[in-house]
Amino acid sequence: MHPMTPLLSIEAALARVLARARPLEAERVPVAETAGRVLAEDVGSSVDLPPFPSSAMDGFAVRTADTPGRLPVVFRIAAGVPADRPLGPGEAMEISTGGAVPEGADAVVPIENVVLSDNEVEISEATPSGAHIRPVGGDVLAGAALLAAGTQIGPAQVGALAAAGVAEVVCVRRPRVVVLSTGTELRAPGEELAAGQIYESNGPMLAAAVASAGAVVVRIGPVPDDETAQREALERGLQADVLVSSGGVSVGPHDLVRRLSAELGVEEEFWGVAVRPGKPVSFGTRGRTLVFGLPGNPVSALVAVELFVRPALLALQGAGDPGPRYESARLAAPLRRRAERDELARARTSRGADGTMLEPVSGQESHMIARAAAADALVLVPQGEGELAAGDIVRYLPLRP
Ligand code: AMP
Ligand code: MG
Repeated sequence: MHPMTPLLSIEAALARVLARARPLEAERVPVAETAGRVLAEDVGSSVDLPPFPSSAMDGFAVRTADTPGRLPVVFRIAAGVPADRPLGPGEAMEISTGGAVPEGADAVVPIENVVLSDNEVEISEATPSGAHIRPVGGDVLAGAALLAAGTQIGPAQVGALAAAGVAEVVCVRRPRVVVLSTGTELRAPGEELAAGQIYESNGPMLAAAVASAGAVVVRIGPVPDDETAQREALERGLQADVLVSSGGVSVGPHDLVRRLSAELGVEEEFWGVAVRPGKPVSFGTRGRTLVFGLPGNPVSALVAVELFVRPALLALQGAGDPGPRYESARLAAPLRRRAERDELARARTSRGADGTMLEPVSGQESHMIARAAAADALVLVPQGEGELAAGDIVRYLPLRP
């Protein structure tokens, strides 16, 4: 038969994957299109932010020496409409939030704190210098560091780049990923099922997972367990940056993926990880192409993509921390540990008075994708004796849409 090489730990397997996932080439990207991308270079601000002393309130720009006092209103400053001259002694200028504080003024008195009559403001209290003025560069100075290489860009980062006047940034290009489903029994959803057939779910599922990790996806298959068909499909997949196949990596007579991959020049780094589900996962490379052979059982494929493929895709994009990013929460019900393998149990989070609770879903077998769909977390159950008890703080991987 085909004895499995000794099973690697999850950490050891991940380390081997990440050692091969070197960042791809960089490209310029318009800031509005950077959500989800990873910066390849540090970015500095191109302007002082704010670029001028600006008002934090709707109110009146004054000299603090003139407060308290009754001052004539000599100009109305709006956002984008600065004063046409400096503020003189004994004068006030109306100013809107975001308006440029005029030369000569050193404070803004909020409109709520004045009495306005006959184009004069009555200010009843002394105003401290600098009140309600946002200083030049108070957020960031021109040329100062804004975002570091390796940062994954989300909405706040897009906002910061745009605010700082940055029009384009350098990001690592998106990895091109082929998702290949193997199995003679598989039919596309919408087709008629004949005896012994099932709907193919790994293709759409893995495509969704890798797309959410920033990759550009092409799907191939389902491809029957036929040497010629699978060799041709694998060779096509090997043209990508990453090939993610599912099925056909176990030891049955129809499991062809590993042998055919080896014949096509893929050098296997490992086959078999001490994880449940997902044990028969394989990983190798051909040239710069990363090659993942995921098991066919849908929940096994789901676990393997989160543990190994998503981090690899983020590392290819130059992420500083490619993950997987475990979080901690309290277990709502006990989970039995297994002597020989770590387990990733499907669980549902809920918010209680004590913070997040993790409730394992019923139906923990590796073919039960419908049960797994009720979960939004993978709880790490470390291998060992006994059980994790209800109330224990455990580590889990969030499953995000
Ligand atoms: P395999 O790893 O090819 O031995 O497949 C293990 C189990 O997963 C079998 O029950 C297959 O029918 C099932 N399976 C394989 N590929 C898929 C797929 N793309 N979608 C749904 N189930 C699959
Ligand atoms: Mg199969």
